[in-house]
Amino acid sequence: MTDPRLRQITELLTLKADGMYGLSAVNQRQHALQAAHLAEHTGCPDSLIVASLLHDIGHLVHDLGHNPAEAGIDDHHEQRGHQFLTAWFGPEVTEPVRLHVAAKRYLCATEADYFAKLSKDSVVSLSLQGGPMSAKEVAAFNALPQSADAVRLRRFDEQAKVENRETPPVQHFLPAVSRCLREP
Ligand code: FE
Repeated sequence: MTDPRLRQITELLTLKADGMYGLSAVNQRQHALQAAHLAEHTGCPDSLIVASLLHDIGHLVHDLGHNPAEAGIDDHHEQRGHQFLTAWFGPEVTEPVRLHVAAKRYLCATEADYFAKLSKDSVVSLSLQGGPMSAKEVAAFNALPQSADAVRLRRFDEQAKVENRETPPVQHFLPAVSRCLREP
């Protein structure tokens, strides 16, 4: 592993990701790996596998604690994650990350039963994040080039909270990460 960016991603996901994922039974690393594994399993391109692996990296690059939503704080992790990743990856990776929270607000507005499927902590954070989208916001979201990938990522995100689910280790996904990295 020669690229220092791969080392930094590995370190974030191995050393800094032991904190639990919101109120769920998995930690941040397991959540990231389950999301990436679901993307891989569904035959997604590298960009969406990598976006799924790194979608919550914004939670790992701040010091607001493991579950700021519980304390009524929106950590804007999708913005932090996007900001962190944008120097290293193109929009096919960074846009689904930036939009994955918007995708939840989108799905709550466009799918009748989606809200009922949300986990407890997603419901808590939804209100901090602005609630379901308005019709105008839905139209603007649909017009974004990566909105469909953001919705796919959002569905993996929602499913990636299963206690004791076997996944490949972080190293398994590094070749895909490497293929998506910008030229240094
Ligand atoms: Fe997530």
